This record gives sequence, structure tokens and C-alpha cells, in this order.
Amino acid sequence: MSIGVRVAVVGATGAVGAEFLRLVEKKPFPIRSVRLFASERSAGREIDVLGQRVRVENLDGADPTGIDVAFFSAGGAISRAHAPRFVSAGACVIDNSSAFRMDPAVPLVVPEINLDAIPRRPGLIANPNCSTIVLLMALHPLHRVARVESVVASTYQAVSGTGARAIEELESQVRAWVESPGEPAASEVYPHPIAFNVIPKVQDVVDRGYTQEEMKMQNETRKILRDPAITVSATCVRVPVFRSHSIAARIVTERKIGVEEARRALAAAPGVKLVDDPASERYPMPLYTSGEPDIQVGRIREDWTSDRGLLFFVAGDQLLKGAAQNGMQIAAALVASGRLA
Ligand code: NAP
Repeated sequence: MSIGVRVAVVGATGAVGAEFLRLVEKKPFPIRSVRLFASERSAGREIDVLGQRVRVENLDGADPTGIDVAFFSAGGAISRAHAPRFVSAGACVIDNSSAFRMDPAVPLVVPEINLDAIPRRPGLIANPNCSTIVLLMALHPLHRVARVESVVASTYQAVSGTGARAIEELESQVRAWVESPGEPAASEVYPHPIAFNVIPKVQDVVDRGYTQEEMKMQNETRKILRDPAITVSATCVRVPVFRSHSIAARIVTERKIGVEEARRALAAAPGVKLVDDPASERYPMPLYTSGEPDIQVGRIREDWTSDRGLLFFVAGDQLLKGAAQNGMQIAAALVASGRLA
């Protein structure tokens, strides 16, 4: 590690942090050093990174000098408290939390869609909400063909979207069910058992009955597509799936798009895999997008209730494209354009 980018991962012991570390091992660009940060709970732990034992540092009081890019995934409050001082010390911060996403001064970036939103000297860059990224990867190629006016979407969100504790909660509830079928399971992360259940509320209700997660899908879509008129009406649902979010979407476009035209646009889109052959049981499923870099789209069909409506189903790994991979792609693009290190 002698030349290259000096990388930091904040929240290195969490679900998204672990994915960042896996991506670092793939060396997406030359890396000179890696620093790891978490809370005092994990400080002192050692993690193998690029063949070296790296000690996790306590973020509180840590000196961020000498970092080129810092990937933050430790929650909004932590980003608000610490990201600005990393930027002041010279780092470009790519933030996975929702803290700065809607700040007009902060670019909110999906590289396949709006890499051009990043200025020449980037300070803070926000990674969008994971469900929003999965939806937009399928929506944007169609939007380019015929502007999307409105979206109605229902999500099927994996527990890893909530973090490491939620993965453990689903595992322990499944084990408890096997040992004592039908017994009520203890729930700490979610308000109800998530095993063998679906919970039609992701985060708190904030606006006319919509939850924070649902409002993010509307507001972030508008910002990323630079289209304040598009409407996204979402119902976000937590399901007992470990990994990968899925979304059933209905869009209405400015002019009618036929199924074949939609398939062509999606098949040509980078980062998107068309998996749409229901007769052969081929359609997007979270089990098969887990650990995969591409978003999968299928079940494409015309909507009977509108002459300009189209329905599709999309699934994608929200820890990868919905979080760490998207952030790493942004960093790689900055390196390629000479804006990092
Ligand atoms: P997680 O598994 O709960 O991990 C949280 C991480 O933050 C851990 O490394 C934890 O370290 C660290 N942390 C907590 N409090 C801290 C503090 N006071 N100071 C420093 N570090 C602290 O959560 P996650 O799912 O990875 O999510 C992290 C962030 O990414 C959240 O903002 C989330 O909204 C966002 N995000 C998550 C996903 C997803 O699919 N999970 C997708 C997109 C965005 P300790 O080991 O010390 O506790």
C-alpha cells in the first residue's frame, strides 16, 4: 500500500461497512491505506484488510487528517456530527445516511444516472436511499425513453436494510419457531415479529400517512432525476428476507411505451439485467440478486388501468448497489477523473 487513495470506512463493523470492506478487497482503484472507524464498542477490534490487520478506531476524538475518501455508514446523527470535520480535514465524504441527501448543496448520486451532479472539487456526496436506488436503476432507462410522470410502488424490503441487529433478529426468530412452532417471538428491532410476517410500515409516519422511507422515494427521485414534477407514491413493506430489496412498480409515462420497447431500453442499460421470461420461471427474486452487482427487472407488462401505464418488478442487493457498491462506484469515478488523490 504505497501509492494510491487513502480510504476510511466509518461504520466499518456494520452491515454496509462489511460490504465496503469486501469491495475494497477487489481493489476498484489503487489504494494506499485503509482506516476503519466505529463506536467505542468496537474500537480496538482488528479486521483483515488487503492483507493487513487494521485496528478499528473510535470515531469520537479521531484525527481525520490524511484521508482522501471516507465512506460513512454509521447513521444520520453520526454523519451530521463527524462528516463535516472529515471534509474540513481534506477528505471527500461519501455518505450513506439520509443526513445530507436533500441538502441542495450536496449532490445525491447514482453514477449510472447523474454523475455530472458532482462538482470539480467534491466535499460531501450523498448516496441515495437503498429502495430509491433499486427503483431508479429500472425507472431511469424508461424515463429517458418517455418521461415518467408518476410511479406507484410497493416495496418488499429485506431485514439487512435495517442493519446487523435486524439480521440477527430474523435468524433468532426463525430458530425459535423451529424449536417451538407458533410461540410468539421476542422482537426488539421491529415492533412485531418479522419471521413469517410482513410489516407494512418502514420507519415513522411523517407526512399525510406516508412514512419517512416512502417520502425519501418521492423526494430523492425528484432530486436525482432533476424532475420536480414526478410523483412517487410508495408503500414500503418489511419482509422476512435477509438480503435484497424488491419493488413492484407501476409507472405512467408521457407517451405510451410498449413492452418490447421497455425491454430494449432495460436490456441496454448498464447495471441492469433483464430477467423476464415467466413461462420459464425467470423473474427477479431477492434470493438470486443477493451478492450480485446488477439490478434485475422483469414481469414487464402493460397496465390495463391506464393507456400509458406499465408494470414491472425489480430486485437488487440493497447492501451492494443500494449502498456500498454505489458509493464505491462514485469513488472510482472520482479517481478516474483525477478528482481523488
Ligand atoms: P449497522 O449494521 O447497524 O451498523 C452501524 C455501524 O455504525 C456499526 O459499524 C457501528 O459500530 C457504527 N456506529 C454506531 N454508532 C456509532 C458511533 N456513535 N460512532 C461511530 N460508529 C458508530 O447499520 P447499517 O445497516 O450498516 O447502516 C449504516 C448506515 O447506512 C445507516 O445510516 C443506514 O441508513 C445506511 N444504509 C443502510 C443500508 C442497508 O441496506 N443496511 C442501505 C443504505 C444505507 P459499532 O460496531 O461500534 O456499534
